[in-house]
This record gives sequence, C-alpha cells and structure tokens, in this order.
Amino acid sequence: MSATPVKTRFAPSPTGLLHLGNLRTALFSALLARREGGIFLLRIEDTDAARSRDEHVVDIMEDLRWLGLHWQEGPEVGGPHGPYVQSERAGIYGEDYQRLETAGLAYPCFCSEASLKLSRKAQLAAGQPPRYPGTCSHLSPDEVQARLAQGLKPTLRFRVPAGRQLRFEDLVRGEQRFDTDTIGDFVIRRSDGTPAFFFSNAVDDAMMGVTHVLRGEDHLANTPRQMLILEALGLPVPSYGHISLILGEDGGPLSKRLGALSLRELRARGYLPRAVLNHLARLGHHFEADGLMDLDALARGFDTARLGRAPARHDPVQLDHWQHLAVLALSEAELEDWLGESLEDVVPEGAREAFLKVLRDNIRFPSEARDWARRLFGRPPEVDAPGRDAMELAGRRFFTAALAALDPAPADFRELAQRVGEATGAKGRHLFMPLRAALTGLSHGPEMRDLWPLLGPERVAERFTAARDSLPH
Ligand code: GLU
Repeated sequence: MSATPVKTRFAPSPTGLLHLGNLRTALFSALLARREGGIFLLRIEDTDAARSRDEHVVDIMEDLRWLGLHWQEGPEVGGPHGPYVQSERAGIYGEDYQRLETAGLAYPCFCSEASLKLSRKAQLAAGQPPRYPGTCSHLSPDEVQARLAQGLKPTLRFRVPAGRQLRFEDLVRGEQRFDTDTIGDFVIRRSDGTPAFFFSNAVDDAMMGVTHVLRGEDHLANTPRQMLILEALGLPVPSYGHISLILGEDGGPLSKRLGALSLRELRARGYLPRAVLNHLARLGHHFEADGLMDLDALARGFDTARLGRAPARHDPVQLDHWQHLAVLALSEAELEDWLGESLEDVVPEGAREAFLKVLRDNIRFPSEARDWARRLFGRPPEVDAPGRDAMELAGRRFFTAALAALDPAPADFRELAQRVGEATGAKGRHLFMPLRAALTGLSHGPEMRDLWPLLGPERVAERFTAARDSLPH
C-alpha cells in the first residue's frame, strides 16, 4: 500500500440516470479504492443548476447501492470534507477566487457572448484554433471599476502562463504533454457567480484529499487546465487516469438500442447486480480470471495497468452471458427473492422449489421463468416450428401410442419413451423430439426426465391428446 491512503471518487452530474458509461467509471474507481483498502468518495456535481435534478441525485445513490458500490465518504454518509453536494459548497470557493485575483492569476472579464463568438469565428477563418484573445487581460483597476459601475457582470478568467510545457503521467494513456500556449485564458467563475465545472471539480478533489481520479477520456482536455488551477492555488494534483470510451458492438457510439441504457432499464428487465458488475468490469479492463466474481475478487484483480487505451465494445450477448452465470450463482433464497411475484399465480402450490431447481439453467429473466411456468403448468402450449415439424413427421398414431403408454403409469420419462419406442419403432430424435414438442411446445429445453415429474400425469395426458387431435387422420 502507498504511504498516502488511496482515495478515489465518483463525481456524477445529476443531469440524468446512470448508464453503462458512467457506471463503469464508478465501478473502476470503487475497485481501485477497495483493492488498496482506501476510500471511495461520492460527490454530486450539480453546479449546472439548469440541468441538475434532485430526483436524479436520489436515483444515482440508489443505483450505486443496488450495485453494491457503497461510498465511505459522501452524501448521506458524511465525512470530514463535506458538504459533498457542490451546490452546497458555493461559499467555499470565494477565498480561492480572491487569492488568484490578488496574485494576478485571474482577472474579471466583461466580454459578451456575442463578442466572444465573433472572435472565435475570426480565428477559425484564419485557420487558428479558437482561444480567448485576451481582451480583458490587462484592464486597469479603473477600467474594471467603470465597467462594474455600469452594472456589467464579469466572469473570472484564469491567466494561463505563457510558454510552458505541462506533462503528466496518465494512469491509462501514459505520458501526456501540453503546451500552455495552446490554452487560452479560461473562465473559472461564471458571470452569475457559480463556479465553472472544471474549477470546482479540481478544487474539490484536492480539498477532499482525492489521490486518484479515474474518468472518461472526454475529460482529458480539462486536465491541463485543472493542473494549472491546482498549482496556482498550491493544492495537490491527483493522479489522473482517462478511461477509453465504450462503443456499441457495431463500433459506433453506444446507441440506446445497443446499450446506452440506464441502469434503471436494465434493472427493470431483471438483470442482476452481479451480472452488470462483471460485464462492466470487463469493458476496457482485462482480468486474469474469466469466471463470475464478487466485488472483492474484482477488486483483487483490478489494476489500472490493465485498462485498455482502445475503446471498449459493449456486446449485449456478453451481458447476457454474465446474467446466466449470475442466475446460477444465486442462493435459493435470492432466487426466490428475485423472481418475486412473477411465479405466484402460475406455479402450483408446492411445486415452486422443484420448478426452480429444474429451470434455473434456462432462466435469465423473471419473464422467462413466468414463460416456462405457463408452458409447464398452463394450457397445452403453442408448439414452435421445429417442434411442429417433428410432431407432423411422427404422425397421429405416434400420439395414440403415447396415450396408451400412460397406462399403467410409467415410473419416469425413460419408461414412457421406451414404451412409445417399442410401440412405434421410433428411435433417437424421432422419438424424443415429438414427445418434447407435445409436452413443452419447444424443440429444446431442460432434460425431459427432469420436466416429467413437474408435468404430472394429467397434464401429460392432456398434452398428448391435444397433439393427437391437432394431427390429421
Ligand atoms: N461531473 C463530471 C461528469 O459527470 C465529472 C468529471 C470527472 O470525473 O472529473 O462528467
């Protein structure tokens, strides 16, 4: 363990629901802290008042807890560096702004949006990257006073030092270099007095003792500006790691269809926390082991050196693979809990345990469990196309024989199949497929010998009768 205890953070802006991208950032941050026995901190970045919503804050916290990503410092938990909601920290930055201004490292800027836009346009037209042209960077105190007296509301701009090379070692992307001459003076306080996002973000990280910042690569361009701010304030700079994007399986940006799904939607579909965790943990991170892991095991296997620089691809089939394993890993009580009421009115009294035991391997979602329950315990089900073909090939006489084979009651499915085989001469799949199709409506599924006791003699007879009657003489 390093000398300073590791502290990571997740700093969502509550402008919407958590989706795979920001959840993965939260997960990696939580895993890093967990591996090091450190602290995982949650900070709500709601400085964009127009887009932030209290209900999103509630949902974000609920989603993180549902995944088991508990924070040791943050809203509702507390800690020595609160408040952890930025809108409640407004007064905290005043002193920093003052210090920067006094030291000449920041200055009020009265430029209007319209004039800034014009200058950007002109620079672009001249083939230059758009930067603040420095219009207000050398106003005299009198000039500033005169503008304030006119009632103009200035922003506060950070004065970027000229001619410096900034470098830092990104935890994911290796050495990064920036030339300060390419960075224009930037706004750190808006004209309404609220802090610019990357100002409060950087200052809070430093004040809260965050040692490692893992975040999306879309923030990479903010990093040099944040380093300059922290340096000017004499605050410590954390280690940064910029995680590559998640792309859809087609290589394009994650669309809603392909997984830019909110966790809410995944939860509603019945995905289990452990499936989501195992899926996310492997998007852009390579683990030695490929089995289903709990948070502790994921944390032990997590290493920033194993984070990939190339964009990660989200493949929904992979998510379903983890879901399958997660269902198999549920205890009986958890399985009961998860399926909740979805089986209530469809599985007969007393058959629930046996049903779950047999079907668990074939169920990935509660809706599938309900489907199977209806299939086994309801009216004779519709038969799928391959099943129907098998039944037609077997013919009506096959099912007449199957009905006859029920008396006296066979001990098990094997005995039933043996009798039907002897009576009809059918063998192998020509024997088993029509039986399965008639009994379950499907050409695939769990072993028939396991399903047989669930069906019981009456439903078996009913289904063979229905099969026989559906076939021509
Ligand atoms: N509030 C920012 C976001 O949600 C946080 C960026 C960061 O992690 O530094 O994008």
